[in-house]
Amino acid sequence: MSEFFVLKPEEGIRFGTKWAYADDLPPINLGTSKKCPVCGKGVSGLEWLPPRRIKLSRYKSTWWGDFVWGAGFLLLVSAHFKQVYEQENLQGITNFSEPVEVLKAGTKKMADLSVEPPVYHLIDIVWNGANQDDVASEVIYKHPEQIRCSFCRVGGGRLSQSGIVIEEGSWTGADIFTPRAGPVEIMVSKRFKQVAEAYDLKNRWLIPAEKYAYDETRPGLWYINDQ
Ligand SMILES: [Zn+2]
Repeated sequence: MSEFFVLKPEEGIRFGTKWAYADDLPPINLGTSKKCPVCGKGVSGLEWLPPRRIKLSRYKSTWWGDFVWGAGFLLLVSAHFKQVYEQENLQGITNFSEPVEVLKAGTKKMADLSVEPPVYHLIDIVWNGANQDDVASEVIYKHPEQIRCSFCRVGGGRLSQSGIVIEEGSWTGADIFTPRAGPVEIMVSKRFKQVAEAYDLKNRWLIPAEKYAYDETRPGLWYINDQ
């Protein structure tokens, strides 16, 4: 069994109809990105600062998952997930935000809903929870000569890779983390997967990391490598 998994929305569908996704609503205040400790360059998206207000795309409770995906932020998680995470002593989340404010759900205003949506928190996770083994992952960069830092490997333009293999000994023990130099933002441990399945956490897809392949020329950029 795989040791690490890529966390994605169910069936890889971020903006679908089975599960609600979130749109961030103005005013949207952005902070800074995380920085590589070696070269000082940005290695993440910009932090989303308060006030954090969202619209959920759907208004029925059966559409509200434990993981709420969207654009412009990493991931929202339910209070139920937070409780499970803490109870099971999982590691890797550096911050659960104050609850985000849900202003709308689908076509409805909050006052018109018969059931209130779950409390959702924005999470932040450890960067460099493990390092990608670029050779074993068969990474091909477009401009390898433009990689200015051998630590974060930002700037080379990723063309393809056949999977994500973690460098032996580089895993810090985090159960949810961003891998250094990987093509994804969120990876999780085997234990995280077991917990997610045991509690049936909603709107997730856990893809074995070594099968998560990347190809810049494909429409969706990534695919499952079953070879
Ligand atoms: Zn760097």
